[in-house]
Amino acid sequence: MTDRRSTADDPIVGIDLGTTNSLVAYCDEAGPRILRDESGRTLLPSIARLGGGAEPAVVGHLARESAGRDPERTVHSIKRLMGRSLEDVRREVDRLPYPVVAGPRGLACVRDGTAIRTPQEISALYLRRLREIAERSLGRPVHRAVVTVPAYFDDAQRQATRDAGRLAGLEVVRIVNEPTAASLAYGLGRASAGGTIAVYDLGGGTFDVSILRIVEGATDGDEAIFQVLATAGDTHLGGDDLDAAIAAAITARIDRGRAEFHADSILARQRLRLASEAAKIALSAAESTLVEVDLPSGRIAEVLTRAELEAIARPLVARTIEHCRRSARDAGIEPREVDAAVLVGGSTRIPLVRREVEQFFGRAPYVALDPDEVVALGAAVQAAVIAGRRADLLLLDVVPLSLGLETAGGGVAKLVVRNSTIPARATEQFSTQVDGQRHVRLHVVQGERELVSDCRSLATFELRDLPPMPAGIPRIEVEFLVDANGVLGVAAVEARTGIRAAVQVVPSYGLTAEEVARIERESLAHAREDMRRHRVIDLRVNAALDAKWTGEALGRVRDRLEPAYVASLEERLAEVRRFVDLATREVDGVDADAFGAARDALNRASMRLHEVAIAESLRGSPGPGPGPGA
Ligand code: AMP
Repeated sequence: MTDRRSTADDPIVGIDLGTTNSLVAYCDEAGPRILRDESGRTLLPSIARLGGGAEPAVVGHLARESAGRDPERTVHSIKRLMGRSLEDVRREVDRLPYPVVAGPRGLACVRDGTAIRTPQEISALYLRRLREIAERSLGRPVHRAVVTVPAYFDDAQRQATRDAGRLAGLEVVRIVNEPTAASLAYGLGRASAGGTIAVYDLGGGTFDVSILRIVEGATDGDEAIFQVLATAGDTHLGGDDLDAAIAAAITARIDRGRAEFHADSILARQRLRLASEAAKIALSAAESTLVEVDLPSGRIAEVLTRAELEAIARPLVARTIEHCRRSARDAGIEPREVDAAVLVGGSTRIPLVRREVEQFFGRAPYVALDPDEVVALGAAVQAAVIAGRRADLLLLDVVPLSLGLETAGGGVAKLVVRNSTIPARATEQFSTQVDGQRHVRLHVVQGERELVSDCRSLATFELRDLPPMPAGIPRIEVEFLVDANGVLGVAAVEARTGIRAAVQVVPSYGLTAEEVARIERESLAHAREDMRRHRVIDLRVNAALDAKWTGEALGRVRDRLEPAYVASLEERLAEVRRFVDLATREVDGVDADAFGAARDALNRASMRLHEVAIAESLRGSPGPGPGPGA
């Protein structure tokens, strides 16, 4: 398999599809850079205001502005639902102000009016916008991207990310772990980048830590090797949790003092969450701040000090340090052997986080790169490597969670163990349990626990129609193959008969190929409908003006025209006014073609009227008003 080379005309961009913000970057001969939108902004808030089926969704900054007003329609943190079932995310759904419901196969989805939107579709909105930003900035079409995911994303979540890309018209040529991308960006700007580094990434929704070894090429021109030694983290740990904890602390404090205050409405909760986040950010620079919220039941203005914030944040930060400890252990190093700790993610601006990281690794963290931009920059570097533009870097990523098969009795046989370098291949032989067994069901799971019930189910498939043999005689060889994206393929063959399983590893909580196709079809259909609505709205505005001018002209020169012409003109005018009225009441039911035809007919028919009217007004000039009689 060869990579298509990226030429300047077919660029591959790097995308950080974040829980809170997303960015797009591009790396050319001058190095990686973040691409900016029309207003010069680098961060696209990963927020969408859904249209309830009636109007197109709004994404980014505009959507964020409406979060406090229209929380039930404003979707944030969708990354937390990617590739998850409603069951998986029960705990946090309560905290989300928008309605999360069970979609196909129990997939966590968002209700949008009468429609159900998958997290993939919503993520595709952000990706489409990033693609637009890139196309505008680079001045050419963009069809391919490297997209980053948290190291801890499992197979279903990675697959969901690819599907989102596809829905946005982007081929995801590679999925890269966020910390690995960060290390690529870090390695770039340094004269001597060799050594062991830790990437500590605390964003809005997720936490990752990875330990990497960068081995410099032996001679100039040799590639540097980035090898991930270990990675650990939590897909449910981040700045959002801190916002929620601050909001809870403020609520508890106010409830005691003011019985009339209730923070239980969705609107109140959302505003308090936003105010808590603003206070948290302010406390990264200030020693104290006000948490200010305007609510129907009154105004809250509570002082929060940095010391209070740190007391709230300490348990969360301690959890991240536990993960650091584990990944150092997995990498077989002492924390103090790390040569640099690179900080990634907006939450690493919190002074407490910096202090704790410094204390754990025994050195001040490396903060020369903007923690918001590091991951996207690294993704762009990886894109340049794939495009053949940078041959001096080689990325060796790892499998974040062990992959295995269910064995008899509900145990797990691990085939690919955590932290194996990818691409990874592993095989194992199994046999049957029962004499004459014809079908063997294979259950692929992911996780570190020993029992299937404690692991995450990825897929099941069957090896069918084996000839009857005594138990233990069939030799079933199962092969696991993890590709460079960290995506798993599984194959099984019975060695004596050569019977293979027809394997389709659809992640339990991903989308099937048909679903992706359906969503694509629907979005095309919506694009058409959106265009129709747009046309009706334009027609309504323009036709109303046409009708106004025609009516006025007719009023002025009616007695200069033959009655039959006037009658036919009035008929056309009435028809256009009827369409304008219809479109003013409701855009949806209007036939745009018929409306357009009626407007054209009026404009054609009124040409003579306007000629007469112009002639009249010229004759009557200089003064305006009704012309003199003929
Ligand atoms: P990310 O997912 O990397 O975009 O990080 C977003 C998270 O960083 C959100 O929870 C923000 O509230 C948080 N954040 C951004 N800036 C700051 C700051 N100056 N101090 C504390 N938290 C911040």
